[in-house]
Amino acid sequence: MKQQKKWYDYLWIVSLVYLTLGFLNILFAWLGLIFFCTPLIIAVVTGNKGYCHRYCDRGQLLALLGGRFGLSRKRDMPRWMVSKPFRYSFLVFFLAMFLLMLWNTGLVFAGARDLQEVVTILWTFQVPWHWAYHGTLFSEGVAQFAFGFYSVMLTSTILGLVTMVLFKPRSWCVYCPMGTMTTLICKVKAKE
Ligand code: SF4
Repeated sequence: MKQQKKWYDYLWIVSLVYLTLGFLNILFAWLGLIFFCTPLIIAVVTGNKGYCHRYCDRGQLLALLGGRFGLSRKRDMPRWMVSKPFRYSFLVFFLAMFLLMLWNTGLVFAGARDLQEVVTILWTFQVPWHWAYHGTLFSEGVAQFAFGFYSVMLTSTILGLVTMVLFKPRSWCVYCPMGTMTTLICKVKAKE
């Protein structure tokens, strides 16, 4: 018998809406903090990966595109990509880049640096994104954070899509920094 869909089975739509909003007004990128905080809060409070298994919009989107839409080659990932050293190294790299983004945001808040109206893809390629910035009532640092955060979200989406095509649909979940962090939190909670 076909299982009835629940409301949370449609959360993949949230991913598409979020990425689209970032094209229209970069300040919507702030909403991405919800995706950052919710998995951590759920892991800390419940000690399980309920977010990954049930509510993650990104995971659902990759499963949908790679699975139902057949956009994945459905191959196994290379062993080095599923290894702990790679996953932890990627987490450290990701967090370091995140801190760098916060540092640059702080400089704009402090007036020591001009606002960069660009989205940086794969931490390297700066793409002009000025059309999505219409000014803010607050400090320009607010916009700088939005540009930086959207860069993080777009970069991780691109990596997720590339590994979805090359390997299995949800291969991104193997090395997703948020997944690695929630796994670590669950391990600590299990020992309590
Ligand atoms: S590992 Fe990352 S992308 Fe995958 S379900 Fe968990 S939070 Fe979402």
